[in-house]
Amino acid sequence: MVRSLAQWTKTLSFPARISPHKSKEAAAVSPLITPTPSNQSLSVQSSDTMMNSNCASLTEVSHIYASEDPDSEKAIMSSVVYCIHHKDGCKWSDELRKLKGHLNTCKHDALPCTSKCGAQIPRVLMEDHLKYTCPQRRTRCEFCAKEFSGHGLESHAGHCGAEPLYCENKCGVKMPRRLLSQHKAGDCAKRLLPCRCCGKEFVADTLAAHHVKCGRMPVPCPNRCDATALAREELDAHLKDACAVSVHGCSFKDAGCRFKGARPAMERHLADAGQQHLQMMCGLVAKQQQQIASLKGALARLSLNCSGTLIWKVSDFGAKIAEAKGKEGMELVSPPFYTSQYGYRLQASLFPNGNGAGEDSHLSVYIKILPGEYDALLRWPFAHSVSFTLFDQCGTPEKACNIVESFIPDPTWKNFQRPSKEPDSLGFGFPKFVSHDTLRRRHFLRDDVLFIRVKVDPSKIVAV
Ligand SMILES: [Zn+2]
Ligand SMILES: [Zn+2]
Ligand SMILES: [Zn+2]
Ligand SMILES: [Zn+2]
Ligand SMILES: [Zn+2]
Ligand SMILES: [Zn+2]
Ligand SMILES: [Zn+2]
Repeated sequence: MVRSLAQWTKTLSFPARISPHKSKEAAAVSPLITPTPSNQSLSVQSSDTMMNSNCASLTEVSHIYASEDPDSEKAIMSSVVYCIHHKDGCKWSDELRKLKGHLNTCKHDALPCTSKCGAQIPRVLMEDHLKYTCPQRRTRCEFCAKEFSGHGLESHAGHCGAEPLYCENKCGVKMPRRLLSQHKAGDCAKRLLPCRCCGKEFVADTLAAHHVKCGRMPVPCPNRCDATALAREELDAHLKDACAVSVHGCSFKDAGCRFKGARPAMERHLADAGQQHLQMMCGLVAKQQQQIASLKGALARLSLNCSGTLIWKVSDFGAKIAEAKGKEGMELVSPPFYTSQYGYRLQASLFPNGNGAGEDSHLSVYIKILPGEYDALLRWPFAHSVSFTLFDQCGTPEKACNIVESFIPDPTWKNFQRPSKEPDSLGFGFPKFVSHDTLRRRHFLRDDVLFIRVKVDPSKIVAV
């Protein structure tokens, strides 16, 4: 027993403290590994721990050990020690006899690599190191199966020509590294290729679809003319303007010319048919004028006032009254309006400088009955009351003081009979509607504008 202990302690010394306490927990000895394996016995090392008064002297231990007393040996082997790598952080502590067993697994118990790579490897990791990480290990590349040292394999990794890799263009192909660049340049479906016509780059498998619509792709003229190297995007312009074979209608076809021909014939036709084309254009203009007139009529009907009430705005009144003073009988007439959609057609008239009894002193207003679309269906004589209102344009409508005059037509008057197709100028109304003096008061005239409302009593409009 003593000998075997002496053998394994060859590499050990016990320089650290031994607790004077006898209990296992307290009596911990902290042996240190010595770098002198030739040391045949436990040696005392001068360390700080030895200065600790709580430590038993190792000399004592040596002494006990040297005495080869079996009891003492037992006592020593039962003493509780820390792992020799306690200072390196190993927390192990137990009886001395178990230390050897612990060192087999202590991860702080480093040994030089047995393959002599020079690394210090914890005992428990040695196997892994020799197998997987030692630069001196012999190993094979899993792809090319060549044998390498561990160090050699590290340099080989990432460069092995046999390692299968996915194509970087994401075409889905996986192949050995050494073939990949050839694949990417040659037959990868996702490589970029320039269109031979327009030069733009396309992914290889979309190039055929691009060629079908590439504007620069040469196409033959569908008329089989002599033009060569026509790009697809130029074809329309060629057919329209340049193709010597394509047939076009004469540019005067809207005016009625029916000539059709290819470019040279068309040029001759345009030179020869000038007179003919002019006549066609005149006919077209006349036709369009008719259309315009009928559209105007339709527009007038649409914008016709059928409300029975006309608000007549008379602008530039100052100029008009001045003109009227120098021109006897000057009359202004309103736009015609209807008393209802199918009613009487009426028109107001205004003498700025007066008429009849109001001449030179008053504004005279009249209503005239014009021939209308529905006269045949209406009741005659015209019998609805009519009122004229001159608006006071003061700012507050509540304070406005309008001038209103109205009348009920006298059925015996000629003015209210059904008008003929050529109506006379006769109207009915008020020669002294408002005097020029009154006109200047209040706000009947504002910004040189006056407003007159002519209203036909709607309750009496139904005539048929
Ligand atoms: Zn340990
Ligand atoms: Zn190694
Ligand atoms: Zn390899
Ligand atoms: Zn690819
Ligand atoms: Zn192209
Ligand atoms: Zn052509
Ligand atoms: Zn023509």
